[in-house]
Amino acid sequence: MSFADLGLSDQLLRAVTDSGYDIPTPIQKGAIPSVLMGKDLIGIAQTGTGKTASFVLPMIDILAEGRSRARMPRSLILEPTRELAAQVSENFEKYGKYHKLSMALLIGGVQMGDQVKALEKGVDVLIATPGRLMDLFSRGKIMLNDCNLLVIDEADRMLDMGFIPDIEEICTKLPKARQTLLFSATMPPPIKKLADKFLSDPKQIEV
Ligand code: AMP
Repeated sequence: MSFADLGLSDQLLRAVTDSGYDIPTPIQKGAIPSVLMGKDLIGIAQTGTGKTASFVLPMIDILAEGRSRARMPRSLILEPTRELAAQVSENFEKYGKYHKLSMALLIGGVQMGDQVKALEKGVDVLIATPGRLMDLFSRGKIMLNDCNLLVIDEADRMLDMGFIPDIEEICTKLPKARQTLLFSATMPPPIKKLADKFLSDPKQIEV
């Protein structure tokens, strides 16, 4: 099976080819067609399996249509650390080079002013750590009403870092009718509970 069999657009296939990838990894084969169909997903996969592209690629095609409004991002990716958030944003730049999606990175340790300016312009893809997102939300700088695509990445690390209450609160601020993807290397009971509460009839893939 090649990338061309997964249902991705020609533009995106071109960016994948430019990256030098020929064969999708198992998580990419399992996840991409189902994410493109709008299904919720639980991906049990470690870093190194190609899991980032398994959500970044279909998200680019899903978001290619439509426009974001000021302060109202259309999608949200939650990451436990600044480093992971930065890596995901690099993936969006690499695979999204033939698209015109706007992106913002909300991470701690960076001046808030620039982040607020980016949000004001409208953002298709918001990549955030939970603490900074909650902070900007409580200041009224961000609204999540248009955010109908959510990715919770590295959920078990979020658990280790004590972020689950924040994630639960963030989930309640998003529209109920949304697509949610959750990735975790392991599925301890609190993550299973989170998935039961906030995902709807998810497809589960374990690699
Ligand atoms: P990840 O699991 O998302 O951290 O990705 C691990 C590494 O695999 C990254 O360096 C990617 O650039 C690379 N990668 C992702 N998909 C593929 C693929 N289909 N073929 C070869 N390498 C890939």
